[in-house]
Amino acid sequence: MKTALVCGAGGFIGSHLVNRLKKEGFWVRGVDLKYPEFSKTTADDFVIGDLRCQDLVNRVIDKRFDEVYQLAADMGGAGYVFTGENDADIMHNSATINLNVLEACRKRNNPNIFYSSSACMYPEHNQLDPDNPNCAENSAYPANPDSEYGWEKLFSERLYLAYNRNYGLNCKVARYHNIFGPEGTWQGGKEKAPAAICRKVSLVQDNGEIEIWGDGNQTRSFLYIDECIEGSLRLMRSEFEGPVNIGSDEMVTINELVGITKVLSGKKFTVRHIDGPQGVRGRNSDNALIKKKLGWVPSMELKVGIAQNYEWINSQIDNHS
Ligand code: NAD
Repeated sequence: MKTALVCGAGGFIGSHLVNRLKKEGFWVRGVDLKYPEFSKTTADDFVIGDLRCQDLVNRVIDKRFDEVYQLAADMGGAGYVFTGENDADIMHNSATINLNVLEACRKRNNPNIFYSSSACMYPEHNQLDPDNPNCAENSAYPANPDSEYGWEKLFSERLYLAYNRNYGLNCKVARYHNIFGPEGTWQGGKEKAPAAICRKVSLVQDNGEIEIWGDGNQTRSFLYIDECIEGSLRLMRSEFEGPVNIGSDEMVTINELVGITKVLSGKKFTVRHIDGPQGVRGRNSDNALIKKKLGWVPSMELKVGIAQNYEWINSQIDNHS
């Protein structure tokens, strides 16, 4: 039986990944500070522990796994990452996790490691024009991420690739672009734009008003969780080390995202634009490299994924009321 370790298995993407690996017949160990929030983990073994602690990391990486997925990070949406208030924690916590996991993997002869970097590592100066952002993989340098979260991702990408060069490991680096879907955080300050918008639309009374950060003309693309998992497994099992974008290239403005959600809801409401953290002006996944290297690109239409997410958030709100 094949074995996998998922670090961050209590999180949004990690818990979906565990489900997928179980469906494929893997024996899975998950590690996280917490259990998944919205459903019971399907992992065979789930360790509650802090990956900043080297002893704990040595205990969970006690053998050779066929696949190790390192998704644990101190992260959140714009309200968490772009206010500046959490910068030191974000950098310290995530870098420590990556240093610990990688070193323990090296010592235990665990070469096959997947690392989730982020599109937040791309330079701000290439993302000022909302209609023409440049997020081609080779545009990363000269580096100029707009957040410390992005700088840590860039450092850790380099760390994984340095272990490939110096210790012969087989690390794979993906740059995720805005992953969303059921069982993602939808309230509390760490939620991302699709979840926040679905929640606001679900809660608004007919003829009411919702608030959106900024003028809403900032652009983004959003990738549905199932496609994120598919792309991650394909990269892990390919010959290509990356870094490579895993994202959708269906770019929309935040106002358009609100529009899609509004149509789905069938509600009438107005939008009030208020000041708030926004991140870069424009961002879209450039999928030329993934297509070339993996012969695969995500294909689900945004409105199909948003419909599923909206339905799930509606059910969460019903459960809470
Ligand atoms: P998430 O916050 O839901 O999951 C991360 C998990 O890591 C959490 O469950 C958290 O408890 C765990 N964790 C944090 N610190 C830990 C520690 N010290 N010890 C053990 N566990 C710890 O986030 P996610 O959306 O599932 O993201 C997974 C990965 O993908 C992260 O590395 C993130 O940076 C990256 N990423 C995500 C997105 C996205 O849109 N969701 C975009 C780009 C990159």
